[in-house]
Amino acid sequence: MTDKYQLDTLAVRAGIERSQFGEHSEALYLTSSFVFKSAAQAAERFAEREQGPIYSRFTNPTVKVFEERLAALEGAECCVATASGMSAILAMTMGLLKAGDHVIVSHSVFGATVQLFTTILKRFGLDSTFVPATDVAAWQKAVEPNTRLLFLETPSNPLTEISDIPALVEVARKAGALLAVDNCFCTPALQQPLALGADIVIHSATKYLDGQGRVLGGAVLGKRDVIYQGVFGFLRTAGPTLSPFNAWVILKGLETLRIRLEAQSASALELARWLERQPRIARVFYPGLPSHPQHVLAMKQQKSGGGIVSFEVKGGKDAAWKVVDNTRLISITANLGDTKTTITHPASTTHGRITQEARAAAGISDGLLRVAVGLEALDDLKADLARGLKA
Ligand SMILES: *Cc1c(COP(=O)(O)O)cnc(C)c1O
Repeated sequence: MTDKYQLDTLAVRAGIERSQFGEHSEALYLTSSFVFKSAAQAAERFAEREQGPIYSRFTNPTVKVFEERLAALEGAECCVATASGMSAILAMTMGLLKAGDHVIVSHSVFGATVQLFTTILKRFGLDSTFVPATDVAAWQKAVEPNTRLLFLETPSNPLTEISDIPALVEVARKAGALLAVDNCFCTPALQQPLALGADIVIHSATKYLDGQGRVLGGAVLGKRDVIYQGVFGFLRTAGPTLSPFNAWVILKGLETLRIRLEAQSASALELARWLERQPRIARVFYPGLPSHPQHVLAMKQQKSGGGIVSFEVKGGKDAAWKVVDNTRLISITANLGDTKTTITHPASTTHGRITQEARAAAGISDGLLRVAVGLEALDDLKADLARGLKA
């Protein structure tokens, strides 16, 4: 059904395979294993000569609906669901790379992603070079003969820097490497990296795909020959698998994805404009603002600016913490992509475990705050932030 229907239709209908009961809503198969009619059928299933579920570490019908629906939304041939966004990145690297390979990573990726590449994967012989998200020449310069993967987030967290996906596709092609994009901030509702030439899309389904702050999940998407052999092969054996319950919850999230993202994006743009007018704020980072350094590129790659606004409060950490501590409505939590607006001080939380130098390289100052705009009334959000800015 992928070819025939638009994104809104696919979001509510793709992947459904009804049981003999003809349930309307997607069925939730909470079972660890599946029974076979005979020894011969068991053997056929295990030999992959017969399609069908075996064991929920690698085949569960509810998880499969989620995989097919997300694949349809991203325009991907294949999707492998994982337990979390981090395990999606781990499954991609463990499934596709080996010791002695080299990876080029944007400076401006999620804090745990930096940790994963610089500590854990480094112990297994994977080399990584970090480069500025927006400097295509720096990516080109970082290419080594053994470079196999380029990895980025766009917009980045928390500064909403935009990487030029088509330009980096060129760099990756010339290097004989794959380009992977963590599409967490935009989701396929606002940006489809595969259509722009990327090879792999990574998701933390924990964020906008669920969209209501309930469960953890992740996904790796791309061409079947890349994803099925490598990534599914790793998942099947190593087991960082998405639970069927979480898959079912996230499926329901996907149904409202585009509507939520558009509403949150519209609110974020208004909030960003308002923040720019506040005297206590030094700078606002939002791709939908003409003041954003990659505004033109952002509007070419994305349908809108997205739901994340970051801003630098004058007066450093003390002033920033004052804004956080004076909120009564906005949730003080590191999560994002929820219907409830959240506020985070990245330097002391999400990016607190990376070194001061890495933080400086990523441009994360002590006065920086990140707001992930939810679905509350915008005036209430403004009033909540204004209190701390006046304090
Ligand atoms: C949260 C996040 C991750 C990690 O996802 P989890 O589901 O928390 O493991 C990866 N990338 C980005 C951009 C994120 O925001």
